[in-house]
Amino acid sequence: MNNGLHKILVTGASRGIGHEIALDLKKQGHIVLGTATSDTGKDSLLNEGMVGFKLDLNSSDSIEAFLKDLNDNHSDISILINNAGVTLLDSVLSTDIEDWYKVLATNLSAPFMIAKNLAPKMIEQRSGKIVNISSLASEYALENHIAYSVSKSGLNMMTKAMTAEWTRYNIQVNSVCPTVVMTSMGELAWGDPEKSAPMLAKIPLGRFGQPTEIADLVLFLSSNASDFICGQSIF
Ligand code: NDP
Repeated sequence: MNNGLHKILVTGASRGIGHEIALDLKKQGHIVLGTATSDTGKDSLLNEGMVGFKLDLNSSDSIEAFLKDLNDNHSDISILINNAGVTLLDSVLSTDIEDWYKVLATNLSAPFMIAKNLAPKMIEQRSGKIVNISSLASEYALENHIAYSVSKSGLNMMTKAMTAEWTRYNIQVNSVCPTVVMTSMGELAWGDPEKSAPMLAKIPLGRFGQPTEIADLVLFLSSNASDFICGQSIF
């Protein structure tokens, strides 16, 4: 921590919500480490002035190598944004167990492993912030979202469990739970007007969100302005 500027890790920074978060944090002067699943994504992060990594959260080998790299070269990360995630649009009966494991591994187990790896340094420094990008689907049950919803529910409980253990070390852990945002994931789930119309009808604002509106909250939860907020899942 230096003049309010930090070294921040954003997973899934190559596109969508994570890209907006990473760019906004960079604009504020922070050093941003971003991850992508491809070399092209990693290169585009480097071209945008970030430290780019290739990472597949669904691969324990990839996570292990990534965490080793962080421990060797970036042990001073003080803010973690667990943003990367996948969705799976299948009913309870048609969800294949391999797909179930993939969603749970990517959306829940990987954020757990990364947070667990970075926390000891934050504990030592008596300062840190973790923001988990969850979803409205963590609380609101939707058809054909079983694995996704369960993974995001787990993320909210992880937020609380980490809060119970780490708040005493001045580490704030919170979740952000967006409604639909029209990224490629939003498009996949809600691009069809037949699906989006009933969903829009349930949203009081009558519209979907913009990535920048999610990034604004993440910026707040990454700043000292939110030092007295912990264990929350903000919808
Ligand atoms: P996008 O599909 O646009 O982007 C997903 C990001 O996650 C990409 O950067 C992608 O990397 C990365 N990613 C996907 N799979 C893996 C993997 N196996 N390992 C590492 N990284 C991976 O999604 P959004 O921007 O919409 O979603 C961002 C977060 O917001 C997710 O956690 C999502 O669940 C959550 N969210 C999204 C909502 C929406 O309506 N869009 C609503 C509520 C929550 P790459 O570019 O290399 O593929």
